[in-house]
Amino acid sequence: MDHNHILKELKLKATPKRLAILDILYHASIYLSPDEVWTQMKERFRTIGLPTVYRNLEELAGRGIISKVIHPDRKLYYFFCGNREHHHHFVCTSCRKVNDLSFCAFEEIQKEVSRTLNATVSSHIMQVFGICSNCSANKEEEQ
Ligand SMILES: [Zn+2]
Ligand SMILES: [Zn+2]
Ligand SMILES: [Zn+2]
Repeated sequence: MDHNHILKELKLKATPKRLAILDILYHASIYLSPDEVWTQMKERFRTIGLPTVYRNLEELAGRGIISKVIHPDRKLYYFFCGNREHHHHFVCTSCRKVNDLSFCAFEEIQKEVSRTLNATVSSHIMQVFGICSNCSANKEEEQ
């Protein structure tokens, strides 16, 4: 995965810290808290502070390079998804894996908003939480 290329495309300078964050999230393949990213960043940049990690995460999320998970526990997490098409995510709160959902009900919602509120929609965020099939199967085995 050429993260350099992604950053260049978005005209964001490929600083060692940004590249390291992308690398960490890409290899994690699950969502991570800023603290967890920080722990791994400290192995690469000895003097890095948590605020720097936060700032870089926010910058990357702001450009849509990484995604935020606003978890039901109200904490904020981040993950990397290489899919650049419009889509949504199914987030497993047990193993923290994130799956792409190509289904989007946006058009229906737009129609409904226009019909009932006579308003126009400019953007939408949808994230679906649950337990993935792997985790459900494991739970059944335990019982
Ligand atoms: Zn799971
Ligand atoms: Zn995705
Ligand atoms: Zn959508």
